[in-house]
Amino acid sequence: MVNFEFSEEQKIFRESVKEFLQKHLQPAWTTIDEEHRIPVDLIYKMGEQGFFAIPVPEDFGGQGGDFVSTVIAVEEVAYHDPSMAVAVYTLLNNAWPYILYLYGTDEARQTILPEVGRGRAFFGIASTEPHGGSDVAGTRTMARREGDKYIVNGEKIFISGVREVMEQLDMGGWYLIARTGTLEQRHRGISGFALLGKKNGVKTPGIEYSILNTIGRHGISTGILNLKDVEIPKSMLIGEENRGFYYAMEGFTLARITVAAANIGAARWALEQAIEWSKNRVMYEDQRPITRFQGVSFRIAEAAMELEAARLLVYKAAWMADRIYINKEPGLKPKDLNFYSASSKLKAVQTAFNTLSLTMELYGAASYVKETNIARSFLGALSYYVGAEGAQNIMRYIIAREVIGREYVK
Ligand SMILES: Cc1cc2nc3c(=O)[nH]c(=O)nc-3n(C[C@H](O)[C@H](O)[C@H](O)COP(=O)(O)OP(=O)(O)OC[C@H]3O[C@@H](n4cnc5c(N)ncnc54)[C@H](O)[C@@H]3O)c2cc1C
Repeated sequence: MVNFEFSEEQKIFRESVKEFLQKHLQPAWTTIDEEHRIPVDLIYKMGEQGFFAIPVPEDFGGQGGDFVSTVIAVEEVAYHDPSMAVAVYTLLNNAWPYILYLYGTDEARQTILPEVGRGRAFFGIASTEPHGGSDVAGTRTMARREGDKYIVNGEKIFISGVREVMEQLDMGGWYLIARTGTLEQRHRGISGFALLGKKNGVKTPGIEYSILNTIGRHGISTGILNLKDVEIPKSMLIGEENRGFYYAMEGFTLARITVAAANIGAARWALEQAIEWSKNRVMYEDQRPITRFQGVSFRIAEAAMELEAARLLVYKAAWMADRIYINKEPGLKPKDLNFYSASSKLKAVQTAFNTLSLTMELYGAASYVKETNIARSFLGALSYYVGAEGAQNIMRYIIAREVIGREYVK
């Protein structure tokens, strides 16, 4: 049975999320972008409202929700902050805590998840290294076992949430990917750790960090982590040693659905701006709105069609994730999500990029002025177009592997 309707519960959830965001986020998003930070009060309020760790069960400090409700929340956050900063914070702070819930030790889960759930901590992903983010299997950060701890050395770059973890909040950090085997072992020699940036107000010794001067989504920081003899207790190893690559891939698969959700939220916002602007932009002797030109109206029509296609893919991916992880339907496995997750990210990011560039074009010169805010959103969405949470070509690679077969796509 196919049913494209949201349930009553989901509709009520979306309305309550919107009501909160209209009051607390919409009036603040441009200031957040200008001042390069999300006020902690807003993060705390979002925590109280249940925006973080949505799919994590309540017993573990989460909201006990599912991936469809996570996507609803993230879509709405991005619509109300199309610069993407608060959306990025929200989407990461749902997907990666879920991986910690799935594979972390009780100690790691108890230390971090309740803090994330109540909005006091951020838990993201530290995978990318200077040698190339797409080559996760080539991770060079080393984790050496010494008794009941690991000593970690290496460098992570383009990491979201560095200032938030190290300066603004407490008890948060990242799913850290580090090598516990040899380089030759590639993905089979990698482990995952819950790296705490700060614990009870004290920064973890050995973590040096800096913030990058990014071109957009200024509200959330993107930074570099230099790890020098950082001690991570064995209790913070996630799952089994040398299996961290696989958990990370599962995390990326889930996170890409939430990334896609943010991109359809921003695209929806952009399309509304484009329509409103084009209806009101009148000129020539008869003061026609520019929508009378098919060169304008047809492109808006196509953008609306593309957005609907992207939305369907994103919600289908979330629905698949619920069948696999929440309902645990027999016969379904995490890898059954690969195609849907990669397709939703590829499509939604491309849609946000296309819709925002169309909006900029229709605004004309006005889009080139900061106050009209279109470029703020364009630069935010661009972060996903250039690579964040996996390059677009990597999405194509994953889809090709699924539809053609792994052995043909090496
Ligand atoms: C704003 C922002 C925030 C980010 N936040 C995080 C974060 O929180 N945590 C984190 O770990 N990382 C983060 N990243 C990094 C992101 O994961 C990487 O950008 C991404 O993995 C791509 O890596 P790269 O940028 O090094 O590009 P590269 O891997 O160097 O790729 C360069 C180009 O080569 C292409 N390419 C590479 N391999 C292939 C292939 N096999 N087939 C075809 N084409 C290929 C890519 O598509 C791309 O166009 C962030 C990035 C940005 C921009």
